[in-house]
Amino acid sequence: MSVLYKAEYIWMDGAEPTQRLRCKTKIVEVGHEPPLWGFDGSSTNQADGHASDLVLKPVFICHDPVRGAPHKLVMCEVLNIDMTPHRTNTRAKLVEVAEKYKEHEMWFGIEQEYTFFEGIRPLGWPDNGFPAPQFGYYCGVGSDEVFGRDIVEEHMELCLQAGLDFCGINAEVMPAQWEFQIGPVGPLAVSDQLWVARWLLYRIAENYGVSATLAPKPVKGDWNGAGAHTNFSTKSMRHSIDACIAAAEALKERHDLHIANYGAGIEERLTGKHETCSYRQYKYGVSDRGASVRIPWQVAQDGKGYIEDRRPCANVDPYVVTRLITETVCSRIPV
Ligand code: ADP
Ligand code: MN
Ligand code: MN
Ligand code: MN
Repeated sequence: MSVLYKAEYIWMDGAEPTQRLRCKTKIVEVGHEPPLWGFDGSSTNQADGHASDLVLKPVFICHDPVRGAPHKLVMCEVLNIDMTPHRTNTRAKLVEVAEKYKEHEMWFGIEQEYTFFEGIRPLGWPDNGFPAPQFGYYCGVGSDEVFGRDIVEEHMELCLQAGLDFCGINAEVMPAQWEFQIGPVGPLAVSDQLWVARWLLYRIAENYGVSATLAPKPVKGDWNGAGAHTNFSTKSMRHSIDACIAAAEALKERHDLHIANYGAGIEERLTGKHETCSYRQYKYGVSDRGASVRIPWQVAQDGKGYIEDRRPCANVDPYVVTRLITETVCSRIPV
């Protein structure tokens, strides 16, 4: 009798303007890798009904901490049946760019902000009206300040058990808003892991009857939006501040292209208020949380390190943001 495991295949659909995650389970024999599989692309905005078969190609496999051993999570790329990358496959484009610039040894650390909702309201918000204005919520403690901590703790534990390079959490400026960080690791690793961490967040929040949204401006008005600050370094940046500044200068040259690809709804979030720089402007500075790109204080002090692109929205596709940064920076600064 063979021993079996559940392989949870996870992939990005064709939803517009923001792709979402889909998943389904395949039973596989222990000792065998999860094979190529297929799905109905006409139900995910990826194909027409008369030629609907698309291929799932496993690209990142880890332990499934929800079901436990020996079960697996299987992040996939979507391919056409001739094995070429599907038009919605943003990972395949990153693979090429990461390979082209691999001597730069790019590292990324992404801060994923998100907001819990219960029904139509952020978790813990009053039935009518609003909570007290933003002040004590960021890194807060106490049931009047933070909402959803049990889910956040469980999510962190699951990410660690899955073996992700998960490096921290904090409660955010708006109540019911939180952040976790992944990295620093290479562009493909940070992106695959971020998608799996997002999947684990949605999945575990189901158990609490709560949804997690990556909407960049989940509540209009005087409330912080949700971003995905993208910290990065090349080998040369990790050795010199001059390379860090050169990278910040390089990003200026393709500001509009980056803004156009940093998440739908970016104009609502990058207003120049709430710790952001307007999307119409590009500036960088030391310790400046009102800049597009921040050089952390410690980096200026040490004379080397990394910089933080503060523009990406919470709903950005990490395969896209890491590809654009790699291309823009590595084509403009020496190895
Ligand atoms: P913030 O002060 O902006 O809230 P965080 O502590 O939330 O900063 O996140 C810092 C991020 O920077 C982490 O994701 C971490 O992985 C990343 N990071 C640290 N060092 C490097 C480096 N040398 N290259 C790239 N990313 C880095
Ligand atoms: Mn942070
Ligand atoms: Mn934050
Ligand atoms: Mn940050």
